[in-house]
Amino acid sequence: MIKLITILLLTISFSLQTQDSFEKARISMVNGQIKSRGIKDENTLKAFLNVERHKFVPDRLINSSYSDRPLPIGYGQTISQPYIVAYMTEIIQPKPTDKVLEIGTGSGYQAAILAEIIEHVYTIEIVPQLAVSAEYLLKELGYKNISVKQGDGYFGWEEHAPFDAIVVTAAAEHIPPPLIEQLKDGGKMIIPVGSPFLTQHLMLVEKENGKIKTKSMMPVRFVPFTRE
Ligand code: SAH
Repeated sequence: MIKLITILLLTISFSLQTQDSFEKARISMVNGQIKSRGIKDENTLKAFLNVERHKFVPDRLINSSYSDRPLPIGYGQTISQPYIVAYMTEIIQPKPTDKVLEIGTGSGYQAAILAEIIEHVYTIEIVPQLAVSAEYLLKELGYKNISVKQGDGYFGWEEHAPFDAIVVTAAAEHIPPPLIEQLKDGGKMIIPVGSPFLTQHLMLVEKENGKIKTKSMMPVRFVPFTRE
């Protein structure tokens, strides 16, 4: 009996220690990778402290969860580098009343970050297995303000349009016209544009009085935007 209690206490203390070390890693990710590179938005920083990135990566990579790079999540796809997720979150200036469309659910991490800040996230993933696993994980983590759909994000999600912002996390050869249409007037879209093997640029697209303004923000490397 005493042996059993000892084992139980050791297990609890081990899992508390691991929990604690993930929290430390998360704080150092926010300070060393995100704040230090100029991300200031308080809501964005708070979301990065809250969301447990290690729940979104494959078990075998759990010890690299908070490292400064993208990680493979299966099916040839990746969870983006934390700084890039933060940059794309801050640039759309998310507000608590916003409705945001994400294209490329992947692991569900970017969707969870957005869901910490805004009213509702609509997210579309083309790989069926990823759509299913992200939806399951996000439910398990208690997010009630995220809707996941499997399909080709090129066409957006008409029933829920217009969106205050659109975040595209796969590199497209051009900006899909349906996404421009589904963006609210005054809204912002952030999207990597370029071919898979050449330099891609993260573009900020703004709609003002029906007019579209685009601005190239920085060179990036994303997985390709595929079509069904
Ligand atoms: N936002 C993700 C990053 C995933 S990588 C995260 O936080 O983990 C980009 C994802 O876009 C991949 O999962 C890929 O399958 C998906 N994707 C590529 N083309 C797509 C399309 N046309 N429609 C929807 N998803 C697409």
